[in-house]
Parts: sequence; structure tokens; C-alpha cells
Amino acid sequence: MKRALITGITGQDGSYLAELLLEKGYEVYGLRRRTSTPNYENVAAIQDRIHWVSGDLTDLASLIEAVRVSDPDEVYNLAAQSFVAASWPQPIATGQITALAVTNMLEAVRIVKPTARFYQASSSEMFGKVVETPQKETTPFYPRSPYGVAKVYGHWITVNYRESFNMYACSGILFNHESPRRGLEFVTRKVTNAAARIKLGLDQELRMGNLDALRDWGFAGDYVQAMWLMLQQDEPDDYVIATGETHSVRELLEVAFGYVGLDYRQYVVIDPAFVRPAEVDLLLGDSSKASSKLGWKREVDFNQLIEMMVDYDLERNQK
Ligand code: GDP
Repeated sequence: MKRALITGITGQDGSYLAELLLEKGYEVYGLRRRTSTPNYENVAAIQDRIHWVSGDLTDLASLIEAVRVSDPDEVYNLAAQSFVAASWPQPIATGQITALAVTNMLEAVRIVKPTARFYQASSSEMFGKVVETPQKETTPFYPRSPYGVAKVYGHWITVNYRESFNMYACSGILFNHESPRRGLEFVTRKVTNAAARIKLGLDQELRMGNLDALRDWGFAGDYVQAMWLMLQQDEPDDYVIATGETHSVRELLEVAFGYVGLDYRQYVVIDPAFVRPAEVDLLLGDSSKASSKLGWKREVDFNQLIEMMVDYDLERNQK
């Protein structure tokens, strides 16, 4: 039986990945940080099947202990300060958790179990002010937020440990991926939740930032398959995971509100509080390498994704 250690297991991706690995017969270890009010909503259905290990990404000693206890074949580093907008007011914490902690995790693996395979959650935000379109593995990075800058560090330190210590370490450059488990402050979930609440008469308006931003949005459930596939190859490598389609925030509003029979223009108010100091205008990924080498493809398209999220939010808001 294979063993996997997942950081960020209670988040969107961690919970889908844990389900996938349990289905495949893995013994799943989840790193959890002590908080006074833990939130296991995303892993409620599988909470009892996870071996919980206490630790904190900024505390190397706790990570060494976590790797020792779990003795993993595979380590998935999904924990981060993952919200771009929060990275301006908290640039240093974002750097410590999203950047430097990747080295903590890599060091724990190198010291305790260097043969374990390592997955780093890299991000399309690294492409930022894009140098070419579509973006692929060879596209130069130009991050536009403290979050993007931190992810670039995480990407290169992963590549560096692969090259320095011959570790099986992979960086998955995942474009935006969403689901009903997405945090409520991210734009997809914010919009699907608002469409549901306005439809149900619970809210009257939705305050938004830049509606012209373009993103390549996929379904998180499809994307965790790619993470696993990256660790099953003969050689470690880096891969872009994307749908190859881009949509604006405005289109997202049209689809979500249209699905519940509303016209978003009657409810959306532009609020400068949600406009960012620097913006990523356009993301569009080319995942042909993942498709040819990993045999990966997405199953859920943009409309299906948004409708799935609105359906979930309609149900949740009626409880
Ligand atoms: P990101 O790509 O990781 O930053 O994912 P987000 O879901 O946070 O934001 C996606 C895009 O939506 C960005 O270009 C934001 O500027 C834009 N956007 C416009 N209005 C909002 C809003 O009210 N909230 C968020 N989170 N994003 C918004």
C-alpha cells in the first residue's frame, strides 16, 4: 500500500486529492496546523480515513517529524497563502508560507526520505504580465503580486532540488481551478454564491472589481488527477495544466446569473476595494505537454463548472 503526505489537505485541492488517493488505495497522511477553530468542511466525508499529523509549514522540525511519521512514497505540497489579493496586505507572511516553506518541505524530505516523490503546487500567476500567449512550460515568468513572486521561488527551488540532489520533484503549473469547495473570496465562488443568494432573495447586490480580466478556469477535480499523474512517470518534470480556453469575469457573471434567469447588470456594483494594485490581465494555458506525456485531459468545461457551483450554492443557501 502506497503512502502519501499532503499539506493543505483541508483546502479545495487537498480534499479532492485525498479522495482520489484513498480511492486508489493509498494510506493518506494530512498535515494540519493547530487552530482554535478547525475547519474540516472539505474533508468531512473522509476525515476518519485520514492519518492526521500536526505541523506547521514554517516549522522545519515539525515537518521532519511529519515525514518521519508518515514515511511517504509521495508528498504533495499544496499548502499556501493562496489568495492573490491578500498577498499585498500580507507580503511577508505570504513569502514565508508560499515561498520559503517550500524549502522547509523539500529539506524535510531530503533529510528524512529523499526517495519520496515530491509535488509542488505552482501557479499560472507566475506568468503574470504575460510574455507570450498561450503560456507553456517554457514561457518566462513575470509575476504581478507578492503571491506570484512567492510562487516563482517555490517553482525554482523545486527545480533546484531536483537538479542538486537528484530528487524526484515536480512542479505543476496549474491554471485557475475551481469547484464548490473554492473559498468564497475567489471570483468564481463569489459570483456563483451571489447569483444563488440574489436568486433566493437573500442579497440585493454584488460588489466586484475588474470585470475585464481573462482567466483559464478548469475544474479542481480534474486537476488533482494531473498532480498524481506527474508523480507516476519515469522521470520528474514540470507541466502546465490548463483548459486552453479563456473567459472574462464578465462572461463568468453572464453564465452564473443567466443560469438562474437573472441579468447580472442589474446587481453588480463596481467597487474600487476589489481592484488590485497590479493586475494579471490574461491567462491562457497550453497543456499539450501534459496531454501527450501524461495522457491528461479535462472532463468538465467552463459552463458545466459554473453551473455545478451555482447548483451547490443554491442548495447550501437554502439550508
Ligand atoms: P486569481 O487569478 O488567483 O487572482 O483568482 P481570483 O479568483 O481571486 O481572481 C480572478 C480575477 O478576477 C482577477 O483578475 C481579479 O482582479 C478579478 N476580479 C474582479 N472582481 C473580483 C472580486 O470581487 N474578487 C476577486 N477575488 N477577484 C475579482
